[in-house]
Formats: sequence, C-alpha cells, structure tokens
Amino acid sequence: MRDRRTTAILSALLAASLAAFAGPVPAQADPTEPNQVQGLTVAQGDGYATLAWTPVDGATDYQIERTPVAADDTATGPAVITGVWRPNRQINNSSPTFADAGFNPGARFQWRVRARFGTTAEAYSAPVAGTTRAPWGDPAVPGENLRTQWETTLAAQYTSDVNEYAYTAAVDELSDRVRVTEIGRTALGRPINMFVIGYPTPPATPAAVAATSPLMVNCNVHGNEPGDREACLIMARQLAFSNDPRTLDLLSHTTVLIVPTINGDGRAANTRGNSTGQDLNRDYSLIRQPETFALVRMLRDYRPVAGYDGHEFGNSSAGDLPMLPPRHQNVAQSIFDESQHMIEGHMYSQGAKDGWWPCPYGCNGGGNVGLSEETILRNTLGLKNVVNSLLELRSSGGTTRPDEGNTANNRRRKTFSALWTFQQFLDYHRANLKEITSARADAITFQVSNTGRIVFRGSRPIPAYPSPHPGEAPPPLDAPRDGQVLDQAPCAYKLTEEQYNGERTDGPAGQRTTVAQRLAAHGHKVVKVADGYVVPLAQPERGLIPLLLDGQAVEKLVDAERVYPTVTGERSGQLVVSGVTCLRDATVTGPVRVRAGGTLIATGSSITGPVDAGGAAGVFLTDTAVEGPVRVAQSSGPVVIVDATVTGPVDVSGNRGDAPLVAANTVTGPLSCGGNTQAPDNLGLSNSVEGPKSGQCASL
Ligand SMILES: [Zn+2]
Repeated sequence: MRDRRTTAILSALLAASLAAFAGPVPAQADPTEPNQVQGLTVAQGDGYATLAWTPVDGATDYQIERTPVAADDTATGPAVITGVWRPNRQINNSSPTFADAGFNPGARFQWRVRARFGTTAEAYSAPVAGTTRAPWGDPAVPGENLRTQWETTLAAQYTSDVNEYAYTAAVDELSDRVRVTEIGRTALGRPINMFVIGYPTPPATPAAVAATSPLMVNCNVHGNEPGDREACLIMARQLAFSNDPRTLDLLSHTTVLIVPTINGDGRAANTRGNSTGQDLNRDYSLIRQPETFALVRMLRDYRPVAGYDGHEFGNSSAGDLPMLPPRHQNVAQSIFDESQHMIEGHMYSQGAKDGWWPCPYGCNGGGNVGLSEETILRNTLGLKNVVNSLLELRSSGGTTRPDEGNTANNRRRKTFSALWTFQQFLDYHRANLKEITSARADAITFQVSNTGRIVFRGSRPIPAYPSPHPGEAPPPLDAPRDGQVLDQAPCAYKLTEEQYNGERTDGPAGQRTTVAQRLAAHGHKVVKVADGYVVPLAQPERGLIPLLLDGQAVEKLVDAERVYPTVTGERSGQLVVSGVTCLRDATVTGPVRVRAGGTLIATGSSITGPVDAGGAAGVFLTDTAVEGPVRVAQSSGPVVIVDATVTGPVDVSGNRGDAPLVAANTVTGPLSCGGNTQAPDNLGLSNSVEGPKSGQCASL
C-alpha cells in the first residue's frame, strides 16, 4: 500500500509544476486528497486579494501560492509562495483568510492554498483565479485619472515633493469636495498641506469643520517611512472623486482631514528627522519645530475627534499592521478605552475578515517600543481628547510574506495595507461617532475637573488579547517609575515674564517660538496677572499642562511655580477675590465676588450665593455647583465654565479674551451671552439649559 502522504506530496508537486509550466490549470483538483484545503475563494480589494478557505483539522500553518495567468487562465509565469498563514494571524481561526498583496493592481492571477503539518506540506486546494482590482479611478475621467508618481512608476519611485504638490493641486482643482490648505511650512520652507474633504463641499472655516466632528490622518512624520503617505494620496483621490454610496455617505456626515507630509524635508532627504535632525514624533508636546507647531495649531482649530498616525516598523516576525492606542496615564480613561475598541473591536475583526493582520505595536518581541512619551503624537492626541491609534507598516515581508525580497512588491503590500487601515478607520468613525464623541465629552469633563494624580511618565498596560492572536504577546508595561507621579495636583502653574515671553534656543534659528506662542498653539488658557502668567489645570488639556510646565516633568518647557488651592473645606460669608483664588472641594456659603483684575479658579466646589465677576483677569468654574446667579462680564482674560451646575441665570457678556468656553453645564435658568469679543464656544459639548438660551449662546 502506498503511503498516503507521499501520494499527497507527489500530487502537490504535479499540480505545482502544472501551474508553473503547463496550459490550463485543472479547475478541480482531486477532492479525495487527504488534508487538502477545500472551499478556497478570492475577493478583490484595493491592491490586495482576500483568500479564504475551510480550515484543515490540525494544520499548523498554510501556504498561499500565486501564479500570474492570462485571460484564459494559462500560466504566464512561475508559481510563487507569496504568503504563510499562521494561527496568531487573526482572531477567528475557524475562518482563515489571507490578504495577498504586492502584485501590480489590475493583473490576473490564480491562487492555491495548502495546509502544512510542521514542515510537511499537504495537497494544494483547487485553484481560484481572478483579475485584481485596477488602480482606483477611470483612466478616461478627469480627476479620477490622476495618478501619483509612485503609481505611474509601479512603486519603483516614491512620489516626490514636486509630484505631490502637483497631484494635490490637481485634486483640489478638479473636486468640489476638496479644499487643500497650507497649515504651515517646514524648516526649509516646504508647504505642509492638508486635504479638507467633505460632501458636497467641505465646510468653509476651521470652526465649521470642527462642528462636523472630523477625523484626521497624519501620513508621514518619519521621512524614511513613506508607505502610508502613498496610501493617503490614493485615498484622497478616492474620496475626492468616488461616487459610490459609502463614500458619499461618509463625506455627508463628517470632514476628512489628511496631512500627507508633515515632514517634507525629511521625506525629500529620506531621513527620520526633519532638516535639523529632530525626530518630529518626539516633539508634539514641546512643538519646538515649525512642522509640529503647525500640526498642533491645526488640531486646535479643526478639532478632529479621531486620528491615525502612519509609520513603518522593522519587526518582521509578526503583524502586518502594528497599532497602539494613547497609553499615557494622564489620558482620560474614556479615550484609552475607545481607542482600544477601535483597534481590538474593529480592526482585529475586520482584519480577520479581509485577511490583514493587525496586532499591538511591540507585539511578539517587537522591543521596548510604544511607550508613554507625551512627545509622541499618539499620546499627544490622547491628551487632547482625540480617540486615535498609531499605525506601523511591517517594513519587510519576513517569513510570512516570502515574495517581498522584491522591493516593489514589498512597497505595494505596505501601502495597500495602510490604505485598507485608513478606509477602515473612516468606516469606524462613521459607525461609532456617538461613542467617539461621548468618550471625548467624558474626557473633557474629567480633565477640567482637575481630579486625580498627575503622572509625568507611565503607560496603561495593554491587556493580552485571548490566544491565538498576536495580542497574546502585547508590548511592555511601562508603568510610572519612582518620582513620576504627583498625587496632589496643583491648581495652576505660574510663569514669570521671562519664562513666558523670553527668547528660546530650542528651535531652528530664525523660526524660534516662545512659550507664550506654544501654549497658544496648543489652545491652553493663560491668565495674565500682575507679576506673571497663570495656567490653571481646570481646562480640557489638563493632563498635558504639567508635562510642559512642572519641574518634575521629563521633557518640560519650563520649571514653573506650582500654585496650590487657597480655599478648601467649609467657608462662610462673602468671598472677595482680588488676586488669584483657587477653590478646590470647597463649600462656600455666601456670595463670591471677583474684583477687577482678580482670578477665580473653582473646581469640585459648591457655592451658595451668587458668583459675580466684573473685569476679572480670568474665571474658571468647573465641576462646581452654584446656587444663585452667575455673571461673568468684562473679563480681560479667559472664561471657562464647564460642567457646572447653576441654579439661577448665567450671564456671560462683554468679555474681551479668547472665546469663552461654556460647555456641558446644567443651568436651571436662562443662559445669555452678548458682546463678547469672540463668541462663546462649547467644543461640541452642549449645555442643558432650562431657561432660554440667547444671544451668542443661543446655539450652545
Ligand atoms: Zn515612525
């Protein structure tokens, strides 16, 4: 009796040689072969083909074979093993899938899959053939027919800065849905462009864009990691010109912000850092460089609620698509949770459906990466209450994509895996906008309450995802170390004139910015007082402020003075505020009167009596209950009234500073605003008002 396994191998070899050299491949291999993969199907995506099959009991892995074929399915080239499927690739092992990629989109192939038991290969499946999806856009339709340099050279060249600008301008010119705006310039003066995409047209101003709860993709911060940028340029074209219902639906409900190249100088030189050598993804909190300064200012004005930050990474042992949420412990829990949900809840399950392999960045021996530095955009965005993830594209094919010794194949796999991720990100945002905005609202009310400890450095753990999945081996813990925690948060930081407005030497010559300019770019509220500047923590980016201004912080701007609460516990009688008065967890029985030039900061407190501020330097009223009317008028500086409960009327009028923040309050009485130099804003967190809302607050 012949050995069954030998028969299987011989049969497999015969089939392989047929596929490589012979004419038409048998439509049906012998169905009686033991351990032969059955039920193979192929579905085409943008730049990838999803193979799916019925699992073989006990198989340790599978090999995916691809053969170029003509229209009649005769082979036109050799069969090549392009993929190896492993059980830790996806969360649902009962329906294995593999996203085959690396080929030129539009070419026709035949695929077969075989199981292996250890190193023993079983019989190949019956083949499936298909023509892969051509590059997006009808070559005969203006706009749709635009192509990047990377596309026209079949990935032999990356898109140059000159070609990017021409392509970007053409998309802008030919699509009503697109407005390209220059958000800044690189150190060497290259424009940093952003696509603003909406349907039928993008909202006209940053504030109008912000009102649509936009999402943002940052495509290329490390100049020598260009794969995501090519995906962004292709996606911009799809969004600009596609008329499929999904695209129109997405763009009717939000605005997509795409920054293809924040680091144009580094891209042109193919270096990680910018032209000064600075790693820009270690600068998003400090914003010493013009590139990071521009992006952070854009975040302030456009207020994306969700984001992805594109990179490439060199761990070839696991994962097509390493991802990671903002982990810094000062990030609100709700933002961490929702970001994790986007990755593990959405990307893991969609990856298992389409054959891509997301995993936590740093998974399976990926090294001591993905930590808590607030200088990294992933963490900075989290501290700005943005649901987001890092995206890494596995640099090399490794053992699971053995055909990527070919450079173009490798580049195509990376770029089309990024395109898949970004398109999934759009779908996630569309389907989960309520959860995302609710996580953001929870985060903002948490941050303005200035409660809980301050962590200077230290991450939340990434829990292991149930095996088999690469999440079973998550990145390192990175808990806060000694000296990195401040249990009693101050009320505010106080800066001297020199600290605030003094010249700095930590940016490129000729483009240096002061602390005042950087805090303004972040959108942080600052009170000018008689002998300096006060930055209260009772504001939406409370978790970020100490990392910039506390002497104990690891990478700070200045060593500012901590200002601690001045009123806590019970207090009776009128409270008159002339300097800086900070109430925390205080119960004041009596009116609070803020005199001209005085600053009131009240968190977690209860005030029985009116709060009346006329001509104050600043008023911060957060997570606080007031019985009685609140009137804040003629202030020269910031007004922040968030998550307050007021029994009585609220009047905000004639204030001369930046837009007063009036958000997430419960007002039993009327809310009226008028004559403020900048109309009050609610950051998208509406107020619950029993009386009428009027004047500049009518729509808040
Ligand atoms: Zn990177």
